[in-house]
This record gives sequence, structure tokens and C-alpha cells, in this order.
Amino acid sequence: MNIRATLRMVALASVFGLLAQSSFGQAMPESANIPQPHLAKARADAFGENGWKFPALITCYPNEGQSAEKVIKDPGPAKAADNLYFLGDGIVAAWAVDTSDGIILIDTMNNQAEADKYIIGGLRQLGVDPARIKTIIVSHGHGDHYGGARYLQDKYGAKLYMTALDYDLAEKSVGRSTVWGPPPRRDQVASDGQTVTLGDEGIKLFITAGHTPASLSMLIPVKDKGQARTLLYLGGITNKNLSPQMHAAYDGWTTRLLQVSAAAKPEGIIGNHSSYDEAATKIDKLRAMPDKPNPFFVGVDNSLRYLRVLKECNLNNAAIEKGGH
Ligand SMILES: [Zn+2]
Repeated sequence: MNIRATLRMVALASVFGLLAQSSFGQAMPESANIPQPHLAKARADAFGENGWKFPALITCYPNEGQSAEKVIKDPGPAKAADNLYFLGDGIVAAWAVDTSDGIILIDTMNNQAEADKYIIGGLRQLGVDPARIKTIIVSHGHGDHYGGARYLQDKYGAKLYMTALDYDLAEKSVGRSTVWGPPPRRDQVASDGQTVTLGDEGIKLFITAGHTPASLSMLIPVKDKGQARTLLYLGGITNKNLSPQMHAAYDGWTTRLLQVSAAAKPEGIIGNHSSYDEAATKIDKLRAMPDKPNPFFVGVDNSLRYLRVLKECNLNNAAIEKGGH
């Protein structure tokens, strides 16, 4: 290596060292002031046109000065595409996919009161009969996603899908939160590669472990202005403070979904927290400019870039948590 290259390496190292020390604060592990090649790769993919930045980058240490838990203004219920409804509160999201035979609901908010307000009330506000909820898919076994499930199962007799490991996780979490409703009643055990069908809709499930032992991600066919398009739904995005095994599993699914997406060509990514998919911001844009292209569809290339950022952030975080290697 010549002198100039060596100097450049030293300069880069100090830049990353400064970044790591200044923007993460006390929780930053000691070893983080060394160069982070995965962070560099994530950053290279994370910046779009006009300074727009993929929110996936906030999963990396350091967190780019933005908290993943930041409070976002509740956008209210919204139609995100012809047959896709957003029913969240700006922090946590539930989504409803409208089919020829009823509704497939993805996630159920924290508890009965929130399910009443955001899901049942939200659908009514949008002119959709909530009694059409026939199928529920719970992305993972954390109470902010399953908490309203038992109530909706009982009220509408809806069929519910969750993975076996995450049913276990949900049942183990009883008593850990005063906010979360009870775990869902055990019903269908979701499996990897399964397609959940209702009427004219088929949602393909992928087990994407890491955030929990068996979170679910999905390919969701939707219609936008009458045109058939596909969205990729990610059921567990955060990748900090995981065991080495869960970091490895996360790396496995990001690699796999990159391959799957190269073929399935999703044109946008949604998830269950607005801080990661910017749903609240996109809904505001959609309302302000309904005749412009739908902001939920950012294109196949940008969807792949988003996945690459998650992949590199996970590798970055795994290295930092392990001790910098
Ligand atoms: Zn979670």
C-alpha cells in the first residue's frame, strides 16, 4: 500500500471513529471507534436523490442521529393503494388488504381499545365494513402487533396465522406489559413459503428470523390506480442487540429476500413501524398530491437498495456487538 492510500485509510478511520463517538453516546460499545466497512457500504446505498435517506440506515450503529422510536404524527386511517389500507397510529402500523372475499388484516395494534379505535374505527372511516375481516396475519410475537388479535378473533371469527415460535414467544410475554392485550388464540401455524389466500388475493409468507425467533415477511400483490403491483412487507426490521445466532439468521433472510426480490420485483417496502417505512410521511404526500405517482412505490431498484442497507447494518451491528471484528 502506498503512502497516499495509507493516509486515506487513517483519515477514514478517524472519520468513522468520530461519527461513532459523537452520534451514539453512552450505549455505543467500546469497539465502535474502529472503521466499519459494513456501515460504509450501508451508507453508500442509503442516500437517494435530493438528499433523501433510506430509513433503513437508522438500524445501523451509529443511528444517524435519529431514534427508531421517534414519535411520528398519527396520520389517521388511509388508503395507501386501491386495495391496501393503513390503520396505524404513526408509531405502530396495522395494514388491511381488501380482497374479493373479505379483508386480510396484518397485525392488530397493542390491545382491544387500539383495535377498536384504529382498526375497526379506521376501516369504518374509510367506508369499509370491519366485519369483512376474515383473516389475520400477525407478523411477530410482540404485543404491539398481537395485542388486539384475540379480541378480533372473538369478534369476527377471523382465521389467524402466526409462526409456531412466535406463538410461544407471545405466550411467554404474558404479564410483561400492562399495555399489551392477551396473546392470540392458537390457530393456523404459518410456515415459510406458504401462501395465505383469500378471494382473489394470495400473500406469500417468508420466515425472517432475527427481530424475533420467527418473524414473518410477505410479498403482497396490490393494485394501484388499477395496475397490479407488488409490495414487500418486512415483519421485523430492527437488528441491534441480537444474539450472534439471530444476527446470522438476519443475514440469511436479507440475502434470501434480495434474491427473491430480484425475481418478484417488489416496487416498495412497507413494515409495521412508520419510522422504518415512512408510511405516515407517504400518506401525507399521497393526500396532498393524489394525482402524482404513489409514494409507496419507490421502484424495484430502491427496494433492493433498502434490503442491502438492512443487510449491511445487521453485519455492522453484529461485528460491533461481538467486539469489532
Ligand atoms: Zn417487535
